[in-house]
Amino acid sequence: MSGEMTRERLHLYDTTLRDGAQTNGVDFTLHDKVAIAGMLDELGIDYVEGGYPGANPIDTELFAQSRQLRTTFTAFGMTRRPGRSASNDPGLKALLDAKADAICFVAKSWDYHVRVALECTLEENLASIRDSIRAAKAAGREVLLDCEHFFDGYKANPQYALACAQAAYEEGARWVVLCDTNGGTLPHEVENIVAEVVKRVPGDHVGIHAHNDTEQGVANSLAAVLAGARQIQGTLNGLGERCGNANLVSIIPTLKLKPQFSEKFEIGVSQEKLASLTHVSRVLDEMLNRAPNRHAPYVGASAFATKAGIHASAILKEPATYEHVAPDAVGNRRRLMVSDQAGKSNVLFELERIGIKVDKDDSRIAALLEEVKQREAVGYAYEAADASFELLARRMLGKVPNYFDVTQFDVNIEQRINAKGERVTVSMAVVKVRVDGKDLISAGEGNGPVNALDVALRKDIGKYQSYIEGLELTDYRVRILNGGTQAVTRVLIESQDETGERWTTVGVSPNIIDASFQALMDSIIYKLVKSGASA
Ligand SMILES: [Zn+2]
Repeated sequence: MSGEMTRERLHLYDTTLRDGAQTNGVDFTLHDKVAIAGMLDELGIDYVEGGYPGANPIDTELFAQSRQLRTTFTAFGMTRRPGRSASNDPGLKALLDAKADAICFVAKSWDYHVRVALECTLEENLASIRDSIRAAKAAGREVLLDCEHFFDGYKANPQYALACAQAAYEEGARWVVLCDTNGGTLPHEVENIVAEVVKRVPGDHVGIHAHNDTEQGVANSLAAVLAGARQIQGTLNGLGERCGNANLVSIIPTLKLKPQFSEKFEIGVSQEKLASLTHVSRVLDEMLNRAPNRHAPYVGASAFATKAGIHASAILKEPATYEHVAPDAVGNRRRLMVSDQAGKSNVLFELERIGIKVDKDDSRIAALLEEVKQREAVGYAYEAADASFELLARRMLGKVPNYFDVTQFDVNIEQRINAKGERVTVSMAVVKVRVDGKDLISAGEGNGPVNALDVALRKDIGKYQSYIEGLELTDYRVRILNGGTQAVTRVLIESQDETGERWTTVGVSPNIIDASFQALMDSIIYKLVKSGASA
C-alpha cells in the first residue's frame, strides 16, 4: 500500500477581467480580454470570470463569441431584481443568453444592505437568490453565488448571512462564495467565520473572495482555506479597485511551494506552468502599460535580489540559505546586485549570468569593481541599470564593438503661439552620427527635448537601423542628486524590444539632456550587442 495521502483539490477562480477591471486607469479592450483569458487558461486556472454581459458593449461582445478554453468561462451579474419574476428581468436574461459555462450571481447577504440598498424584505432577497439559481440551472449552467459583504453581514446578523449562503447551496449552487467586499476583515475573523459557514455548507462548496484593504487579501484567502473553503477568487497582480483583490500571483506559488498547503492540496496549475508565472505577471503589466512592481513577492525583479557582498558569496555556495523558495520555480531569477557595497563575488556572479567567461583571479575584475565604485560615487546606479553594467563590464573586458559615433547633437526648445492661439512648447533635435566613416544627419521633433533627441538618434544609424526597429522606451525616470558642491542628474531609462525583453540603462551628468543621452546610447548599444550585430 502506498502511504501517499490523496490531496484535496482547491479551485482557483480569476476575476481579473471583471473585478480587476475596476482598477483606476485600467481599461481592457476586447482583444486584451481574449488574450488574458487565454493566458489564464494556459496557466491552469479553473474559472475565468470574463465580465458582466449586458452591462457594457465589450463584455456583451465577449460573451457573444465562441471560444476554445478548458477553463470554466464565467459570466457575472446580479440576481433577479426584487419584485420581478426571473422570466421578466432583462439583466438576468442577458446573463442566461451569454455564451458562458457558468454564471456567478452576486447577491446581498448583509441585512442592512437588503433593507437600505435593495429596499426589499429579507425574505424577498432570499427568494431572488433561489429563483435566479433555479433559472440558471434550468438553462444548463453551473452556478456560483457571490455573497456580497458576507463578513460584515455576518458580524451584524449571522443568521441572515448564513441563510443566504444556505439558500444558494440548497438550490444547487456549485459554489457559495463569501466576499469581503469592503476588504477590512482580518485573517483570524475570516478563519472563525468560514469555520461556522462550513458547518452548514460543505467546504468543497465554499469560496473566498478577499480584497486587500488591510494588505491581507492573500492571508485572508489562505485563512479561509485553512478553515475549510475550497475555492479562492483573486486577480493577476492583485488588480482591483482601491487596494486591489487577493493576488493570485502570490497565492499560486504559496499553494504550490509551501508544504503546509502543497502536501494537503492540489491545484490546476502544474509545476511546469508555475515556472511561467513571472512571465504571466509581466505580460499583464505590459498590456496595462505599467512598470512591473520590482518588489512583488515571488515575481518582482527584486524578489530574489541581494545587495551585501558578504551574503553574495554565501548565496553562491548555498542558495537555499538566503531564499525562501527557488527563484526558477516561479520563472524568476536570482540577482546579486552590483553596488558600492558589493564584493568581488557579486561581480563574478553577474559576469557568469551575463555569459562573460573570465578567470576569477583576472586582474580586470578588481579594475571593474573599482570602476563601478567610482561611478556609483558620482551617481550611477548599476544595481538598477543591469544593461549599463553589462556594457561597462563588456567594455572593460574588451568586448563591445565600436558600432557608431555620435559626433554632434543639438537640441532646442521653442515656445510659441500656434494657429489656434494656444501657447505650445516643441522641441527639435539634430544628431550627427558617424557610421563606417560616413556622416548621417537626422532631425527629430518631440514634446520634450529628450523625446526629440530619442527620435532623432534612432532615426538613422545606417546599417544597424534594422536591429533597433523593435526598440521602444517604456519608462524614463529622473532624479536630482545632491552630490557635493553641485547637483547632478541621474536618468534611468527602461527599454523593451520585440521579444518582450526589458533592460535598464543609466546616465549621469550635471545636464539632464546629457544624462539622458548617455542612457539612450547605452540602450541602443545594448540592443546591438544583444542582437549580435557585428561592427
Ligand atoms: Zn470584489
